[in-house]
Formats: sequence, C-alpha cells, structure tokens
Amino acid sequence: MNYVASILSNPIEYLKGVGPQKGELLRKELAIHTFADLLSYFPFRYVDRTKIDKIRDIHGGMDFVQVRGRIVHKEVIGENRAKRLVATLRDETGELELVWFQGHQWVQKSIRENVNYLVYGRISSFNGALQISHPEMDLLTEEIAGGKQFLEPVYSTTEKLKARGLTAKGIGKLTKNLLEQLAPTEIQENIPADVTAQFKLMPRHLAYFKIHFPANDDDVRAAQRRLKFEELFIAQIRILRLKLRRQQQSQGFIFKNVGDHFNNFYNTFLPFPLTGAQKRVLKEIRQDTQAGKQMNRLLQGDVGSGKTIVALLTMLLAIDNGFQACLMAPTEILSQQHYKGISELLEGMPLKVALLTGSIKGKARKKILAELAAGEIHILIGTHALLEPEVVFQHIGMAIIDEQHRFGVAQRARLWQKNNTPPHILVMTATPIPRTLAMTVYGDLDVSVIDEMPPGRKPITTVHRNEVQRAQVMDFIKDEIRKGRQAYVVYPLIEDSEKMDYENLMRGYEEVKAFFPEPKYYISMVHGKQPADVRETNMHRFITGDTQIMVATTVIEVGVNVPNASVMVIESTERFGLSQLHQLRGRVGRGAEQSYCILMTGNKLGNDSKERIKVMVQTNDGFIISEKDMELRGPGDIEGTRQSGILDLRIADIVEDKVILAAARETAERILEKDPALELPQHRNLHEFLTRQRSKSNWSKIS
Ligand code: ADP
Ligand code: MG
Repeated sequence: MNYVASILSNPIEYLKGVGPQKGELLRKELAIHTFADLLSYFPFRYVDRTKIDKIRDIHGGMDFVQVRGRIVHKEVIGENRAKRLVATLRDETGELELVWFQGHQWVQKSIRENVNYLVYGRISSFNGALQISHPEMDLLTEEIAGGKQFLEPVYSTTEKLKARGLTAKGIGKLTKNLLEQLAPTEIQENIPADVTAQFKLMPRHLAYFKIHFPANDDDVRAAQRRLKFEELFIAQIRILRLKLRRQQQSQGFIFKNVGDHFNNFYNTFLPFPLTGAQKRVLKEIRQDTQAGKQMNRLLQGDVGSGKTIVALLTMLLAIDNGFQACLMAPTEILSQQHYKGISELLEGMPLKVALLTGSIKGKARKKILAELAAGEIHILIGTHALLEPEVVFQHIGMAIIDEQHRFGVAQRARLWQKNNTPPHILVMTATPIPRTLAMTVYGDLDVSVIDEMPPGRKPITTVHRNEVQRAQVMDFIKDEIRKGRQAYVVYPLIEDSEKMDYENLMRGYEEVKAFFPEPKYYISMVHGKQPADVRETNMHRFITGDTQIMVATTVIEVGVNVPNASVMVIESTERFGLSQLHQLRGRVGRGAEQSYCILMTGNKLGNDSKERIKVMVQTNDGFIISEKDMELRGPGDIEGTRQSGILDLRIADIVEDKVILAAARETAERILEKDPALELPQHRNLHEFLTRQRSKSNWSKIS
C-alpha cells in the first residue's frame, strides 16, 4: 500500500468545508497540514447530550451543567465595558440566568425566544444568583430530544479560528466530512496482531472513528486506550531503535579483568560493606564495559545514597585494564571535596590522583598536564576545566560526571573525543527523575538506580513552622550548636523578584546575627552576587567549622558536603518546588547525628503549597517526591524535558498513563530483542508504518 496515494496525505485545504483561507488558519493555529493531522486532532472532551440537569437541582457546587429549556426574556443591560446581554432560561422546574459579555449583538440576533435549546456551560454565582456565562447553545433537534445515546466531541480551538466559523463544533463538522470519505483500509493497523490481542486493543481504524464519534462511554475508553498505547508504543520503538543503532555503531573499550587495584581496594580499604543497590549498579557497569560498546549510563541515586564509592570502584576497574579515568564535578568546591575524599580512600594504594580546576595555573598546571599525557596520573578530578583541549590523556577509558544536570549533552560529547575510541561514560545525578520520565527522556542512556540508603542513616525529621514560632526555631538552632552542630538558613532567590529576594536575604542575615552575636557565634553568608573568592571563603569557613551558621540562597543546593551540619531551615518554603526542597534538605543528614529540616512559611498557604509541605514532612524518599512533583507541576517543568520534544504527545499523558507506558515499553523491548530490524512477517505492518512516518517527524531530536 502506497502511503503517498492515500488521501490522508492530502493538504487540509482540499477537504470539503476548508478551502485556502481556513486551510491557512488551520496550519498556523493548530499545525493541521494534512487530512491525517486532522484525524489525529482529538477531542478533549465529550458532551453527553442525554444528561439533562433540572434547573431546580442546580447548585453552586456543580461545575458544568446541561439544561433543556426556552429563553423567555433577553435584554442588554449596563454601560460601556459593563455592557452585557442577559437572558432568562426556563425549564419546567425553574429559571436560570445566561450572560454574554462579548458578541452580544450577534447573540441577541441569533438566539430565539420560545424554542427549546440545549444549553451547556460552567455554573458560576454572581451577586448570589447562579448563572452561566457564554454558554454553548444548541437548538434542540429531534434526535437529541428523542433521548438517543449521543456523545458530541468537543475540540479545542482559538479565537481566530472561531471568527472563521471553526468553533469546537465547526472542527467536529470537518472531522465528520473526513471520516465520511475515509475507507477503513486507509487507516492501516500498525501494531503487531499478537500485541493487539494480548492487550485487547481496538483495531486502529475503529479507534480513529470512535475517538471522534463514539456511541457511548465504553467506546471513548476503548478508543483512547488503543490510541494511547499506540502513541507510547511507537515512541518507545523509535527510542529503542535509535539506541540499538548507536550501540551497534559505537565501539567501546573492553575491560576484561577485575584486577589487583579493584580487588585490593575492595578487600582491604573499602570502609564499609556495599549496599545491595551499590553492588547491583556495579554489576551493571561491569556488564556494560565487557560488551565492546561504549557505555552511556545514567546513575540516579538520592542525596547520600553513596554514588561516590561506586564511581571510585568503576575508575579502579578502568585502571586495572590499563586505562586512565576522570571524575568531573560542576563546581570548584565539589571537585576539591571529591579530590580530598578519594585521595583519602586511596591512601596506601600505589595510585596517583590529581586535581585540575580553573584556579590551578602556571607551573602546577603544566606539571599535571605533562603527567597526564605521560600516563602517570591514574585519576584526574576536576571541573569543566577537564574539557579543555589542552587536557590530553595518554589513554582514558572511563569518564564520570557528577551532578549531571549542570552539564549539557554537548559537553558530554566533548569527553568522547579524549581518546581514539570514546571512553565509557557514567553520569551521576541526585535529582531523581520519575521512572516514567527517565524511560522517555533519556532515550540514549541506560539508567541505573541506587534505591537503598546505607544502613544506620537516621531519617531527617522534617517539620513545618511559621513566623510566630521563629524564636523557638532560633532557640532550637542554639541547642544544636551547643551540641557542636552547624545549621543552614536558606532563602529563595527567584529571578523575577531578585531585588526583593536579596533584601529579604540581608534582612534575614541581620536577624540571625541578632540571635547569634559574635564572638560566641560566627556566620557565613553565601549568595550569587558575591565575588567568587568571597563566596569560596565563606563556604570554606563553614566546611572547616569556623562558622556555625550558613545563611545562603540556593547556591548551596548542589553537592556541598558538611556532615556536621544537622539543621536546615528553609525560609519562604512556599516559594520552592518540591524537588528543590528535597535537594536542600539533602544537605543535612549526612553524618551519624539526627538531623532536622525546618520549613518556614507565612500563615496563609495555597492548596499546592500545603500539599508540597505535607509531602516533605511525610517522606524522605526522593523518588516519591519526584513523582509527586511531576503530578503537581506537570512533566514539562521537570529539568531537561522541555527541550527533548518527547513530551509532544497527542493523547497519552506520561503521568496518568504510566501503566500503559510501562506495558508499551516492555512490549517494544520484547519485540526488538527478538527482531531488531523488524524483519519478521508479523512485524511488517509496524515496519511499514515507521518507514512511512520517518520523513514526517523529526524523531532524531530525541536522543
Ligand atoms: P552521594 O550519593 O550523595 O554522592 P556519597 O557518595 O557522598 O553520596 O555518600 C554519602 C555518605 O555515605 C558518605 O559519607 C559515604 O562514605 C557513605 N556511604 C556510602 N556508601 C556506604 C555504605 N554502603 N555503607 C555505609 N556508608 C556509606
Ligand atoms: Mg555526591
């Protein structure tokens, strides 16, 4: 079947009822270019024309209502901008007011008195009286009056389209015209038969008919389920094929041996037994590095879950096989912390670790670069300074990136060029991404998860406090400092209100200072407007314990490790998103002591804020929090998803439809495992569909 010959590829203006002008608008406003695009422009809801509310039963707690009645009165009232058309609708049980603020001249003319209308709209109350403003009005036809099952599709539209008659209903008419001339064979099945049977999916052509013109709710549900599955399944097949292709093309170093360095460290110097999750991740890395392909793995693990030791063991594996390794962190401080920590762990082992950051200059820098090129340095730790072309390894086999979201894909790619065959890449992040999202967004990365905390960690106690309790909070901090602990006080800094936020920070600093006067107490202040060296000094004083309190903006969010800090006070908590709150909270609870997170807010809170605070108080689990965050904000706001294009879904929703997504993913994996090139006869329809569609969409964006 030649797709080009199908009428579905016809330009939209050729459809009955469209023409050049409307065609232009449909392209511009809704990106509907072809018949096929219109077919995939799904209704966002349906009106059940059989469900009629009695006016007597309508109350303010209702949302949308549908009434059958006559207009018994209409009049234009008010002056100028308050001018509006008010009509009275009457059924056999009472009367209801209808209001139009715009277009009332047209409405006045077109709405007739004393004939039956079907009226639909959102109920609101005005001066104590219930009304519907800008209702949808339909002259009641025999069919509806006869009480037949009748679900009417409602399409979203725009003001410009409405002005040309393409209202929600107008679009429905076009769709009807299209479906009337479309033979079922034009819409070919694209899912293998055993899959449609397994999941009891409606045939494709039926689904496209029923999604637009269902007979009843069951039709809607079945059509939606089929089309959601199709959308997610096709997307997964595409992502997985891209990945397969990359794996087939990419060469990777083979780490054959687990050698002396790894074993010696593991048996002699490992300070604690690994958790089950850490072992599992190491096994996954081990498998990747034996496969002869370049590893591209994302390691997700909540703050404090122990990613560093996994990184170190992975680097030892590389060294055992004759390679060098590097660890890149987003800031100077984090690099130093890693350097210090890893050097200490490797004390007693014959390995050379070096630190390279932007501030290491002159002779010291030259020396490092020379030793690196000569292969004398085994592990190089540093900031993005490592990416500079002058940083040349003798033979790098493993590159690890900590705190992934600060580095882009392009930077990752620069690491690939550091050897003739690209080194294996391990990207570590403490920003948990919901499983569903990771499945879709990180198409080109394999994902490992550390979902288990090291033993003996005391869960952080999180409480919610308000202004009235501020003095108590300060006293609590005093108690903790007396016990030898340290505390953070963090203020929001939002771009839009930066100036006010800085004022609040300064006021907060003064306030804290009043409670904690020198010389008994010392305070570090850290924010983005300070010169870098002042900021570093302040951070450093807190890390060494010279200051007991750190007042800061969210610049401390990433990675800073001060195990002695046991209190995190977050000011104006209501202004932070859930993931950010969780990241901030992760700055404490890193030592053996009980730690606390105190969420300060004003007295009046919106529902969303209340919900966020409730979640924070209830759980320490980053994955639960990230799921909740996605539920509250929608996936579009989660880091890195917006640009990926993966969320341009027409009908499926990765939050609501995660069960379908998981099934689609598993099915796609199973099929490609058996038949990577989709050559088997039972996959022919799928293969043809993908080939037809390839030219149409830019799927290569997703990687
Ligand atoms: P993150 O995943 O946030 O980078 P780290 O690697 O910094 O976490 O580990 C946090 C702390 O937990 C460190 O002090 C580390 O030594 C400790 N740790 C890591 N793994 C274990 C383990 N299996 N048992 C006990 N402590 C561990
Ligand atoms: Mg870390």
